[in-house]
Amino acid sequence: DSRPIRRALLSVSDKTGLVELGQALSTRGVELLSTGGTATALRDAGLDVIDVAEVTGFPEMMDGRVKTLHPMVHGGLLALRDNPAHQAAMEQHRIGEIDLLVVNLYPFEATVAAGADYDTCIENIDIGGPAMIRAAAKNHAFVSVVVDTQDYNALLADMDQNNGGTSAEFRRQLAQTAYARTASYDAAVSTWMADAIGATTPRRRAIKGTLAQTLRYGENPHQQAAFYTDGSDRPGVATATQHQGKDLSYNNINDTDAAFELVSEFAPETGPACAIIKHANPCGVARGTSLKQAYQRAFDCDRTSAFGGIIALNQPLDKETAEEITGIFTEVVIAPDADADARAVFAAKKNLRLLTTGGLADPRAAALTVRQVSGGFLVQDKDTGFVTSDDLKVVTKRAPTEQELVDLMFAWTVAKHVKSNAIIYVKDGATVGVGAGQMSRVDSTRIAARKAVDMADALGLAAPLTQGSVVASDAFFPFADGLVTAAEAGATALIQPGGSMRDDEVIAAADEAGLAMIFTGMRHFRH
Ligand code: 5GP
Repeated sequence: DSRPIRRALLSVSDKTGLVELGQALSTRGVELLSTGGTATALRDAGLDVIDVAEVTGFPEMMDGRVKTLHPMVHGGLLALRDNPAHQAAMEQHRIGEIDLLVVNLYPFEATVAAGADYDTCIENIDIGGPAMIRAAAKNHAFVSVVVDTQDYNALLADMDQNNGGTSAEFRRQLAQTAYARTASYDAAVSTWMADAIGATTPRRRAIKGTLAQTLRYGENPHQQAAFYTDGSDRPGVATATQHQGKDLSYNNINDTDAAFELVSEFAPETGPACAIIKHANPCGVARGTSLKQAYQRAFDCDRTSAFGGIIALNQPLDKETAEEITGIFTEVVIAPDADADARAVFAAKKNLRLLTTGGLADPRAAALTVRQVSGGFLVQDKDTGFVTSDDLKVVTKRAPTEQELVDLMFAWTVAKHVKSNAIIYVKDGATVGVGAGQMSRVDSTRIAARKAVDMADALGLAAPLTQGSVVASDAFFPFADGLVTAAEAGATALIQPGGSMRDDEVIAAADEAGLAMIFTGMRHFRH
């Protein structure tokens, strides 16, 4: 199934490795055809090149929009070599076979990432390149197509093993890669356009992703995995700089994202804040008078779970905080920045990964979230919902105090980032109990309170910190039992969406326990 390579067409925007490839092909007796800039680069290196314009009989025209879109090119790529009618057509029209196509596309994604204007982005949509790639890939029974500069060596290696030709298996792999490239290219165009024209609906979107990193394994060692990025430049785990430590694992990336998205809710100018994440749920979130104190208070929410966790900070990491963090084993620290002293502290901890992002993510910025299910995936707008004081409705006889209100809003913000059913106890700007991912709301309420009791024991406190705390619930209480449990744990105020059939019962129970309760009218399910 080996096919000889006698004639190649090279047309590349990214000229990396081009000359070396051209030389290697030339040495192997391959005739080179090429377009404008590519031909110039090859000629400058002393290689013999035939211009595509010479083959088509047409000059490149319309600012390069039309260069290779011609039967002399596409016939040479698409003709079946074992089909007499195709052969006759080739002979009749003097079309020469093209056995190898090497194309990489106009840098559309990079142009968008660089913030180019609309017209510049449009001009960087490659038309002839994808057309040739798809043609060559379709005809992979006879034609080899290379779309990635990283595949040049593999191409030459396969040629050397096949007497100057390529194997059928290799051509199939190349074709599959080629279609992945054209698919992601068009997805990038569509995604950019959706943003450019302000299309907000998740409907009719192409989902775009570029392979950024192959991972050692997935959620478990027996699962293979990879990280695809969508090209967005928002600060986060995908765009962060890693300063030290092993490569991020699948679980690290997932948890680091959760940590950073949560801490990004707390603008740096509102004071230091820290979130510690385990298995995508926070086990401690706190504000502090210093970053170090914010970390300590987050840590004190659940010291047991914080071990081996992921820490996100809303301000640049400083030396004091770095020293405090190294007190226990932590997988990842992510922060907008880290000063030299802090980096020096971490340098001694080889297994600790440090990521800096250059800023916080905008929690209000529109984005899509994708979740896989068997047979497809679900796409929705990211949960960027938030409530202002105007949206809040006091439903109990007692209104929250000012301090309670501040803590209620903090708890509500954290609740958005906790898997449902989510119950968060907060005191003085720090979580003191987090109940996450339970199948019943009352269980989350109990578990969070129970953890606070354990922490009080560990810290030698007279009473758990849930005494005098406030509570947030990501969705309404279907019954009064959860609220009663929170009150028994010492909560004095509660925030929740409201909207249950039994709101009246729940409000009555709150009044009876002397609780202040606020309805937000907005739910923050997270699964
Ligand atoms: P060069 O640097 O050789 O002048 O241009 C190479 C680029 O042109 C490649 O990225 C290739 O995909 C693209 N290209 C080749 N043929 C055509 C065409 O007919 N139309 C457009 N728009 N781009 C083409």
